[in-house]
Amino acid sequence: MSRFEGLPDTRTGLVGHTDEGDEAWLIRSISQKLYRCPGCHGEIPIGADHVVVHYVHRIGGTEHHHWHRPCAEALVGGLRKVRKVPASDAQRGKLEARGRRPAGRRRR
Ligand SMILES: [Zn+2]
Repeated sequence: MSRFEGLPDTRTGLVGHTDEGDEAWLIRSISQKLYRCPGCHGEIPIGADHVVVHYVHRIGGTEHHHWHRPCAEALVGGLRKVRKVPASDAQRGKLEARGRRPAGRRRR
């Protein structure tokens, strides 16, 4: 767990897999509006340093949610094969493009 401490940050994102085989990409963000964290159901205030969790589903399609940093750390603990990635690889547009193909037809 400590190897990912402080991540994701401005330069480095994380990616892992859920038990269902979906990819979960994590990237650091600053909230532009009020969000509700799916981890604890609490509010993430405007301007808060937090984590966007962007799922790319095994069957195709994406969805993303905004998480508190400590809540996202707990989420990472439940993912498989977590690794660091350049934050530029975890941009929304790239992940949405990735989600247009099912997992078996994606580049790794
Ligand atoms: Zn939370």
